[in-house]
Amino acid sequence: MDSIDEMILIGKKLESLGLIESSHSGNISVRNGNKFLIKKHGKMMGSLNRDDIIELDFNDEKGYEIASSEVYAHRSIYLNTDAKAIIHAHTPYAITLSMFFEKIFPVDAEGKYYLEYIPVIISEDPVASKDIAEKLGSTLKDHYVAIVRGHGTFSRGKDLNEALKYLTICESVSHLKYLYDLWNSNVHIC
Ligand SMILES: [Zn+2]
Repeated sequence: MDSIDEMILIGKKLESLGLIESSHSGNISVRNGNKFLIKKHGKMMGSLNRDDIIELDFNDEKGYEIASSEVYAHRSIYLNTDAKAIIHAHTPYAITLSMFFEKIFPVDAEGKYYLEYIPVIISEDPVASKDIAEKLGSTLKDHYVAIVRGHGTFSRGKDLNEALKYLTICESVSHLKYLYDLWNSNVHIC
């Protein structure tokens, strides 16, 4: 199985896990030396074909216009970290909590084991902007995963498997904190 096959498989997995809120959202990439493979703009994450993936150069922007709209965020993360793979998805619970917190601290054991906290990146221009690209490159130096407020989650890893692990842990942490806080507030009301 090559990197493109893995990207197709992970795209299907993201959809089956309910981590894609709308059919054409999210993106995925893999580092390949001085280049990176990334999903093209407008392609559905859950049903990618080999033709839906494009290889781009870090130093030459040829082809960037047909790549995912978050192509500059992916490039910035690769240039600032040792990431070998990146996943971005519109994870519903993480997006919801990102509107209320600047850091999300896990309340569950698995979340605490893997993450001290999840940083929330705040921007006036939270989609496909240079501001977000710079902030993600900087934040993901020290974190495997971060949430762009009101937009979605970006995770990195030594491969797609690890990037998926941190993306799903982020959503699990957010889901459990959501339930914990909801239950906690109801108990107090009662
Ligand atoms: Zn997005």
